[in-house]
Amino acid sequence: MDITRKQFLKISGEAMAGLGLLSSGVFSLTQLAGCQKNYGGTMLEYKIKQLNLVHTWTIARNSSDFKNNVFVRFTKDGISGIGEAAPNIRYNETPESTVAVVEKAVPLFEKKNPWHFVDLGYAIKNLADEQTAAKCALDIALMDWVTKNLNVPLYKYLGLDKSKTPVTSFSIGIDTPEVMQQKIREAEKYPVLKIKVGKENDEEIINAVRAVTDKILRVDANEGWTNKEEALEKINWMVKMDVEFIEQPMPSEMLEETRWLRDRVDVPIIADEAVKSAADIPKLAKAYDGINIKLMKSGGIQEALRMVWMAKSLGMKVMLGCMIESSCAIAAAAHLSPLVDYADLDGNLLIANDPFSGVAVESGRVILNDKPGLGIEGEF
Ligand code: MG
Repeated sequence: MDITRKQFLKISGEAMAGLGLLSSGVFSLTQLAGCQKNYGGTMLEYKIKQLNLVHTWTIARNSSDFKNNVFVRFTKDGISGIGEAAPNIRYNETPESTVAVVEKAVPLFEKKNPWHFVDLGYAIKNLADEQTAAKCALDIALMDWVTKNLNVPLYKYLGLDKSKTPVTSFSIGIDTPEVMQQKIREAEKYPVLKIKVGKENDEEIINAVRAVTDKILRVDANEGWTNKEEALEKINWMVKMDVEFIEQPMPSEMLEETRWLRDRVDVPIIADEAVKSAADIPKLAKAYDGINIKLMKSGGIQEALRMVWMAKSLGMKVMLGCMIESSCAIAAAAHLSPLVDYADLDGNLLIANDPFSGVAVESGRVILNDKPGLGIEGEF
């Protein structure tokens, strides 16, 4: 059926309203799939949803009590795939800019064959400059749809062994030392902690953390140190405090300074803000020991896989991280996690009203279920 985007959206909306689904917002995927099958439509829907945080979340850059993420649902042939975008202002993304890209994707999803998901994935990539969170939501929904159709869990489709999922770190945002100690007590069941630093009182924070735990500590400065000598001093002190690695110590554009730093410290330096896609990785190999892949930065599952292969071929360590994301996007990353050295997939654990479930953490380890696709349950 050849229809314009406007007509397509209108038809989709009317069909949904006619079925009484738009107002209820609590239908299950099974019911939706059944109704859609009768209608026989292809749809791409989205919704901006506020996710409330358990604690105010503060990193070197900013502070927030909630996040507005964008959820998408792609429905075709009676099957729905779900995806999520966590827009990040660091990358010039807002919920509105995300929705604009999702709307631009409607004709692609209507006209292109989703079984040619590699082609469709590149078409999504070319929809806009940057705006990778939006592209990520679309790619996750696409891959969820494909693997649900095949009736296999995503990890199995990728040929991965779910017994190899790593232990995930649990992140402790910047706060007063007392509150950070309280957060650490609440994180009792997680064996690895990621501590956010990059403000004036880094030493005070790490001292306070070490006073209440001897767990493995990873440190993330979120580009907070802008002087290489000062960064060197801080890292050398933190090595004595027994940290496993340092993530993004200096601003992403300070590549030469980071290389200088890396040559002088005895702990791995991991790139986060400095790396978004596979094309960024070769130049980073001289300044970093590893990269932190996030689906929101890569633009989804397909580019994240290309990044894993690129980093591994350059002998770099691979970490899989996340933004503040519900169990939808976290599950997508978790399915890739048997491939990586380190995982930091705790975004859903920081949310008080996660609309989805499906990815569990037991003794700190990511546990995948055997349901098809992402294996998640819930509704947005
Ligand atoms: Mg980071």
